[in-house]
Amino acid sequence: LSPIHRRESGTEIGVSGTIAVLQDVTEQERLDMLRREFVANVSHELRTPLTTIKSYTEALEDGALDDRAVAGRFVGVIQNETERMIRLVTDLLQLSRMDSKETALRRKKADLFELIEEVAERFAFPLRSKGIELRLNASPELGTVNVDRDQIDQVLDNVVSNAMKYTGEGGRVTLDAHRLEDGRRYAIVVSDTGIGIPKEEIGRIFERFYRVDKARSRGMGGTGLGLAIAREIVEAHGGEIAIESDLGQGTRVTFTIPAYAEGGGDK
Ligand code: ADP
Repeated sequence: LSPIHRRESGTEIGVSGTIAVLQDVTEQERLDMLRREFVANVSHELRTPLTTIKSYTEALEDGALDDRAVAGRFVGVIQNETERMIRLVTDLLQLSRMDSKETALRRKKADLFELIEEVAERFAFPLRSKGIELRLNASPELGTVNVDRDQIDQVLDNVVSNAMKYTGEGGRVTLDAHRLEDGRRYAIVVSDTGIGIPKEEIGRIFERFYRVDKARSRGMGGTGLGLAIAREIVEAHGGEIAIESDLGQGTRVTFTIPAYAEGGGDK
């Protein structure tokens, strides 16, 4: 502990008071560090596509425009990078709205089976095109949940698109939903037979911008914010989200959401 901390803590308040103040200072420092890290990450994530766009437009100007095939490819790269930047900024705006608690959840009664079935339908074609099998383990009689439908759709989209991104041809993605024993919650499980996540990385996987392999994630169009957003949304609903994985074997993401309770208000 530096002398500055000790001086800030004052001398009159005794030992326990001193400890409390020291913890405050360290917490403030930790928050400042997280903020600095976040700004550095955002700047870097925006700078990377911008640099790519700049070099490709320069190459077009320098003559690549005259070769139709080459020009077409370069324009494709520019479009991809632009789309990724738009996704990144959209994700950042959403996180910032959630941080400032600007958006209240618009919870409504929704049929869980329908919700899961719709996700399966959205992903059926892209999964099939990648040669990945899709399984749905849920009963049409599952019951109803009390959720902000758009937000829970987003959680599912983020998690299922990860399962798809990190699973190769011949793999399988499974969507499973069941009511928990307490009767007040449902668990939704998205598992894949993909590349998996090394054990030592799992603890940080929900952090903003944390990625096991930055280059690979970028190549797949990822922003590194998908799981961070998923966790914010699930926790705002009073649920929990967890990830388990075996390297080279697959990954399983489980999250809980509240069951709809008649007259139960916002539970
Ligand atoms: P990204 O946009 O990079 O996918 P996410 O926040 O959604 O960002 O995920 C963070 C990181 O977690 C990913 O970059 C990837 O390394 C890892 N990850 C997430 N889901 C899976 C999965 N199903 N299989 C393997 N790795 C995963």
